[in-house]
Amino acid sequence: MLKLKSYVSGKWHDGEGKTATLLNPATEEPLAEASTGGIDFSAALQHARTVGGPALRAMTFAERAEILQGIYEVLFANREEFIELSIANGGNTRNDAKFDVDGATATLLAYVDIGRELGDRHIINDGETEQLGRTPRYGGKHIYTTMCGAAVHINAFNFPAWGMIEKAAVGLLAGMPVISKPATSTALLAHRMTEIIVQSGVLPDGAFSFIAGSVGDLLDHLAPQDALAFTGSGDTAAVLRALDAHTRRSVRVNVEADSLNAAIMGPDIESGDETWQMMLNEVTNDVRQKAGQKCTAIRRVFVPPGQIRNFVEALKERLEDINIGNPADANVRMGPLVSRSQLEDVAAGIDVLGNQATQVSGTLQPDNLTAVDSGKGFFLSPHLFQVDDVAAAPIVHEREIFGPVVTVMPYEDAETLINMCAQGGGSLVSSVYSDDRDFARELLTGLAPYNGRLTHGSAKVAGISPGPGTVLPGLVHGGPGRAGGGEELGGARGLSFYMQRTAIQGYSALLDKFFPR
Ligand code: NAP
Repeated sequence: MLKLKSYVSGKWHDGEGKTATLLNPATEEPLAEASTGGIDFSAALQHARTVGGPALRAMTFAERAEILQGIYEVLFANREEFIELSIANGGNTRNDAKFDVDGATATLLAYVDIGRELGDRHIINDGETEQLGRTPRYGGKHIYTTMCGAAVHINAFNFPAWGMIEKAAVGLLAGMPVISKPATSTALLAHRMTEIIVQSGVLPDGAFSFIAGSVGDLLDHLAPQDALAFTGSGDTAAVLRALDAHTRRSVRVNVEADSLNAAIMGPDIESGDETWQMMLNEVTNDVRQKAGQKCTAIRRVFVPPGQIRNFVEALKERLEDINIGNPADANVRMGPLVSRSQLEDVAAGIDVLGNQATQVSGTLQPDNLTAVDSGKGFFLSPHLFQVDDVAAAPIVHEREIFGPVVTVMPYEDAETLINMCAQGGGSLVSSVYSDDRDFARELLTGLAPYNGRLTHGSAKVAGISPGPGTVLPGLVHGGPGRAGGGEELGGARGLSFYMQRTAIQGYSALLDKFFPR
């Protein structure tokens, strides 16, 4: 069987000892093994810091942008192979696989543009020189310079391509060497991408390392100039935040975690309106796409009481129409969950939700699967729940069920609606569907403190909006509270995580010479 290797200290390493097995979640066929036993992670970090870091920091943003362009070209040239791996190891349909793979390359291109725009410089100015004394001779300004350590990236299972590449694009453009660790269960695609990037020689030695399996003692060696960016569950995030590296050595930790994203129908929307249809499409898509295993997927749907029956009926019909099965079959629209433990976790969540909400549709053991050996694969059908008395169903705001599960519930007015959304504890994204501008403004303003991103669906953008589930490189990805409190992407804003902001004061004219706009 294929043994995944780690690429650290400028070489490929076979891990020793206990291995984890990667499966095809539709057939349960073993695809590969991974292990990191015996790897010297302290040396790996040191190689990145002392070899990759100086090489990247010597380059301008424009030069680093050309490296990203090189990565883009080799990845794009192998797109078909990546899509096949994503279908096999991720349980993704072809469209879901493209979403991950193309999301990765599109993000790279966005950061190529940002790097070219930043151009021939190594430093970013933050604002203008401010006068500090009575005369303009004495002033101060803020600059960003690249930190001198290594960036460790730990990613979740659901986006092995996009997750790895979006973090790497930002870290590398900022000038930091990257050590990337995908979730082990779906590491096949990220591993193959790394092989291709390494073979291409586009990156300087030490600029990119890859861990196939557990991080071992790597995080114990993190030092103050290093950074750790994590995407995954809130539980793992809590472990990482408790590391000495963070609590005692102040290593920056960025967390993207769970999220109970909301979709809201405005009181102005009538069944069958263009905006109604848009909302129905986006909710359906978020339940179906990647079998609901998307951090941005809509979990809670708030609808005016008078529209509940119609919306639930329409959504039920759409969800029951989804063809589930082995995504190797082109007719399949929704694949399995990614692993047995994921399936068990989602089934347990459905069980708990069922105690407080009415199940409208969905089954744990779908019997009409396409192209599946009987009894094999981690399948379940889309689950739709309805809640009539929201006060009696606190669970909808408490538990993220990371699968194809959505709950529809009523709201009375904007104020209680905002309060209910806030009970989710902080979200990555929420969406408001309304053509009533006063309602939309009130909601977008009221929801903003509880969300990293908001989308406004309206007849003006129906047909051109990518929906709330698509993370965009130019906009911030992250959210407060439960969502982790982190922030990634957001165009050039994303670079600041890998750079130190320093205030510098002195003779204003000289500061402007040293650090021109
Ligand atoms: P997870 O179990 O927390 O794992 C995430 C990553 O952390 C994996 O690479 C995992 O490696 C690693 N990991 C686990 N324990 C660790 C430890 N003690 N030290 C260092 N690394 C450790 O999460 P998941 O099941 O992959 O992902 C599902 C969760 O991620 C969901 O809750 C979802 O909401 C969240 N998510 C959030 C976003 C976002 O952008 N906010 C995006 C996607 C997913 P192994 O695989 O080797 O265990």
